[in-house]
Amino acid sequence: MERTLCILKPSAIERSLVGEVVKRIEQKGITICGMKMMQLDEKILREHYSHLVERPFFPMLVESMTISPVIVMCLEGKDVVEVFRGMTGATNGRKAVPGTIRGDFSMSGQQNIVHASDSVENAEIEIARFFKPDELFDYTPGMLKFLYAEDEI
Ligand code: UDP
Ligand code: MG
Repeated sequence: MERTLCILKPSAIERSLVGEVVKRIEQKGITICGMKMMQLDEKILREHYSHLVERPFFPMLVESMTISPVIVMCLEGKDVVEVFRGMTGATNGRKAVPGTIRGDFSMSGQQNIVHASDSVENAEIEIARFFKPDELFDYTPGMLKFLYAEDEI
């Protein structure tokens, strides 16, 4: 099964939206195979957001991502990278469609509640960046046969 990285950003922690986002993930039928709270620093953010390091807003982004701890989650499911990007919505919360996490809970292009990996390749790199192998769990949810057809798993 495919895996993706989700980060509940400080905007989720500080606004008490952790349960709300986790609820959506669980209700969708996505499996949580790793979850921990951690404090990010500039070093890891320079790697994670390497495509944005030269942008003028980068120092502000670092500030917003380090102001409180975050919760990182490894999510598993069929096509979960694309599925969870869809649930997350557009980067700017003001443009994100209602029904998405950002569309429902964010008014900002920066304070946008969650990170979601954008490709299978990046998901693999990002999961390895934030989790040690023994922090990830391989298990088969008992309700799997009610989440998927036999030929989907
Ligand atoms: N970001 C920002 N200003 C921008 C674009 C992005 O502060 O103009 C922040 C925002 O928090 C976003 C993160 O940088 O979620 C990563 O940007 P990316 O373009 O990868 O968007 P995402 O994949 O999160 O939708
Ligand atoms: Mg991105």
